[in-house]
Amino acid sequence: AAGEPQADCLFCKILAGDVPATIVHETKDVVAFRDINPQAPTHILVIPRAHYANAGELGADAPELAGALLAEAAVIATAEDIADSGYRIVFNTGAGAGQTVFHVHAHLLGGRGLSWPPG
Ligand code: 5GP
Ligand code: ZN
Repeated sequence: AAGEPQADCLFCKILAGDVPATIVHETKDVVAFRDINPQAPTHILVIPRAHYANAGELGADAPELAGALLAEAAVIATAEDIADSGYRIVFNTGAGAGQTVFHVHAHLLGGRGLSWPPG
């Protein structure tokens, strides 16, 4: 069912403590941890505890949770001291856009110049 843990999901395993991760911050509904292959000095993944495949499903099925995730990303940006210099929040959606883990996650990127468009 929507939101339920998936046995084959890497991020559900991290949430369960079965795969180690460097947790940055957690709330009742949202967990943030450092990306294992950082693309910027600060590169944090912010995920809901509930399993949704992508940002579209999260927004459609659990809009309040989607809002909580964005609010948490902003809190972490401030705590990581990247809010003033500017940061980027990315939701890769679909394999064609580079999504490799199908448990929705916001990439929070900062601490370096971020050009646009990204290429
Ligand atoms: P996607 O490509 O799906 O948008 O992002 C998946 C992200 O998860 C990638 O940036 C990748 O580096 C990160 N990642 C993959 N496996 C692990 C892992 O085991 N631990 C952590 N912390 N990050 C991971
Ligand atoms: Zn999952």
